[in-house]
Amino acid sequence: MRAIVVRRLGGPEVLVAEEVDEPVPGPGEAVVEVAAAGLNFIDTYHRSGLYPVGLPFTPGLEASGTVVAAGSEVTCAAEGDRVAFCTSLGAYAERTVVPADRLVPVPGGISLDNAAAVMLQGLTAHYLATDTYPLDSGSTCLVHAGAGGVGLLLTQMAKRLGAVVYTTVGTDAKAEISEAAGADHVIVYSREDFAERVREIGGERPFDVIYDGVGKATVPAGFGLLRRRGTMAAFGNASGAVEPVDPLVLSSHGSLFFTRPTLFDHVAARSELLARSAQLFEWMRDGLSVRIGARFPLGEVQEAHRALEGRKTTGKVLIRP
Ligand code: NDP
Repeated sequence: MRAIVVRRLGGPEVLVAEEVDEPVPGPGEAVVEVAAAGLNFIDTYHRSGLYPVGLPFTPGLEASGTVVAAGSEVTCAAEGDRVAFCTSLGAYAERTVVPADRLVPVPGGISLDNAAAVMLQGLTAHYLATDTYPLDSGSTCLVHAGAGGVGLLLTQMAKRLGAVVYTTVGTDAKAEISEAAGADHVIVYSREDFAERVREIGGERPFDVIYDGVGKATVPAGFGLLRRRGTMAAFGNASGAVEPVDPLVLSSHGSLFFTRPTLFDHVAARSELLARSAQLFEWMRDGLSVRIGARFPLGEVQEAHRALEGRKTTGKVLIRP
């Protein structure tokens, strides 16, 4: 079968399609025939070495598909089940082996494409909006990269929870997409200084929380926009890793909280993975919309990475084996 194999770290060119052995499930594992794999920014960090992974490896943490084989001791999945996952490396392949307790059943009425499109970014948006800083109707938040995968889902969830939502985006076309997702104030930060524009719209320090997946380019200016005891949730590095933050920055800006959360710590227990997924699927049935901005065949995965890193994508990018 075909899979993408990374044998050395580097740019998109290190993503190479190869013929590899069929995966065989060990105890507690299942083989999933991949319908669609999700492209995520973390795949670029694995490829470049920002987040270390042993070589060689097949990238991709997220996919949906059908269980085609189950190993011994598997009780939570069976052949024929429609499933999705988002924490098991190896998704850029025709078939992949996954710890069965990481598989989430995809309910009827949710397509496999949409399931692949929401697992990683949707569960991330879910924990950010409900746990990192639980939003409610009194909250005002900023979501950076509002037309991206996490950004569009987080904007919709924040609106659903009653918050006032500001977003930043790189282009006018992305601004339209962010507005359509419900953002109250959209700032084109490639053109305007976002901190200045925020102050014009909302006053000195309007935010209870800033959700920042852009990282290096935006986190420092965000501290000055948070209210006393507000929360800076720096959850990604799209523009590069954030420089170390002096704790005195947090006190001088008003006893701020600074957190660097990851999805893995919010779905480590199977019960939590299932509970968050169930609410996500429920919200999808109740109108949470999923934007699949592009689909690439497995053989064109280099192009998919270039598009994501080149800020050319909106919403979710899927890879078809
Ligand atoms: P997106 O679809 O949001 O794509 C990234 C976006 O970041 C781009 O489209 C671009 O939007 C913006 N961006 C700003 N500066 C740059 C830059 N220099 N290079 C590239 N992009 C830039 O990606 P995801 O939704 O997959 O991920 C968003 C962030 O969230 C990433 O940093 C990712 O690592 C993080 N993440 C963290 C998780 C966690 O649990 N900690 C889980 C999932 C994602 P624009 O043009 O509008 O500026």
